[in-house]
Amino acid sequence: MNIRTGVEAPYKTYLAEDELPKAWYNIRADMKKKPAPMLNPATLKPVTAEELERVFCRESVRQEFDDTTPQIPIPQPIRDFYRMYRPSPLIRAYFLEKALGTPAKLYYKFEGNNTSGSHKLNSAIAQAYYAKEQGLTDVTTETGAGQWGTALSMASAFFGLKCHVYMVKCSYEQKPFRREVMRTYGADVTPSPSMTTDIGKKINAEHPGTTGSLGCAISEAVERALKLPDARYLLGSVLNQVCLHQSVIGLETEAALKKLGEKPDVIIGCAGGGSNLSGLIAPFMGEKLRGEENYRIIAVEPASCPSFTRGRYAYDFCDTGRVCPLQKMYTLGSSFIPSPSHAGGLRYHGMSAMLSELYDQGLIEARAVEQTSVFEAATTFARTEGTLPAPESAHAIRAAIDEALRCKAENKAETIVFGLTGTGYFDMVAYGRYNDGAMDDFPPSDEALAESFAQLPEVPAAG
Ligand SMILES: *Cc1c(COP(=O)(O)O)cnc(C)c1O
Repeated sequence: MNIRTGVEAPYKTYLAEDELPKAWYNIRADMKKKPAPMLNPATLKPVTAEELERVFCRESVRQEFDDTTPQIPIPQPIRDFYRMYRPSPLIRAYFLEKALGTPAKLYYKFEGNNTSGSHKLNSAIAQAYYAKEQGLTDVTTETGAGQWGTALSMASAFFGLKCHVYMVKCSYEQKPFRREVMRTYGADVTPSPSMTTDIGKKINAEHPGTTGSLGCAISEAVERALKLPDARYLLGSVLNQVCLHQSVIGLETEAALKKLGEKPDVIIGCAGGGSNLSGLIAPFMGEKLRGEENYRIIAVEPASCPSFTRGRYAYDFCDTGRVCPLQKMYTLGSSFIPSPSHAGGLRYHGMSAMLSELYDQGLIEARAVEQTSVFEAATTFARTEGTLPAPESAHAIRAAIDEALRCKAENKAETIVFGLTGTGYFDMVAYGRYNDGAMDDFPPSDEALAESFAQLPEVPAAG
């Protein structure tokens, strides 16, 4: 490859600190048909704020229910914390473009520039702030790959909260360094399922030797929050409030593109629970919903956990213990667990209710990609752009490369923007398997999905 010289436009575009967004943007305010309400799993009636406030912080609940306010001001202490690692750069992938020989312009918004290594800190700091403001002393949560647990540990340390993390057991064992980062920030980290909760004991008794799942860790963290006197449970994805906080990604992207005089044709993000994608697309989806502009928006998910592309749009449980409210979402069923050989993150069985509704309305496209092709894209990216991507982020890279190659075939100079949500330093076991040629793809069989769908809760259509 030739060394590129005489680059015409900036490689990185930064905003100034005082250009940081002052308000989050709430996509739901511009949706004519809103996401379906959460239901109480016992009564199948819409959950009330009082019920949710036993589990979540008061302000978080208010944001969860707010379908009408487009701009929600970012409190000053949160903006001050954001200044430590934001605005994040919008980067033109010149070297990747060159390697692909594409006429397309590729941009990525890089969210891995903080110790937690991902975008999760954007919501962790907001949620920790609201917990502190409410006078709480403790917060509980679950973590799978570990990024959310790390982000919340950092945010909790900043506001002097005690953070209790239930970490999915296989990840706890595979990623000892993640665990130590969390403990360094003062968090208690417990492998899940544990013997510290009733649901953990039950799951351990029913499935001896289980290595855990996100749904199970969520149940444990919620139970712990309910048992501690001044604690609430915080969640790092899926919820409306998390998507709201992540809008800071898209708002900065929009501002940086404006500086460059660019308008995206295609916007791409990986989708686990849907928070980074919601955040990246927020202002663009707003324009789309208001009929001002049109963009192609692509959600990329793993073939081994394909909620959008093979899931059902139905009410489902958010956790294995079935203590959380029911959400109407694209889901593989709360009993679905992706193949243990799946290394690429994005393992949650469901999807943000808001993104699910947008997908159902045809405003978002979705595609599933197999993990060997994801790691191939990750490797290409690392070798051209330098940054070692998180496997989750590499799903978006895969789709961005495929779109850039389509542009090459069609000789079109489209502008493609994708989210590079994080770095992959703690994922070297997975990279090792790819480098050894020992990585496989295990999409679920139709039979396995049918079995899981059969356990979806029965909810009357009016619900
Ligand atoms: C958590 C995570 C994701 C997926 O979560 P979403 O809520 O779908 O955004 C993607 N990338 C990284 C690096 C993550 O840590």
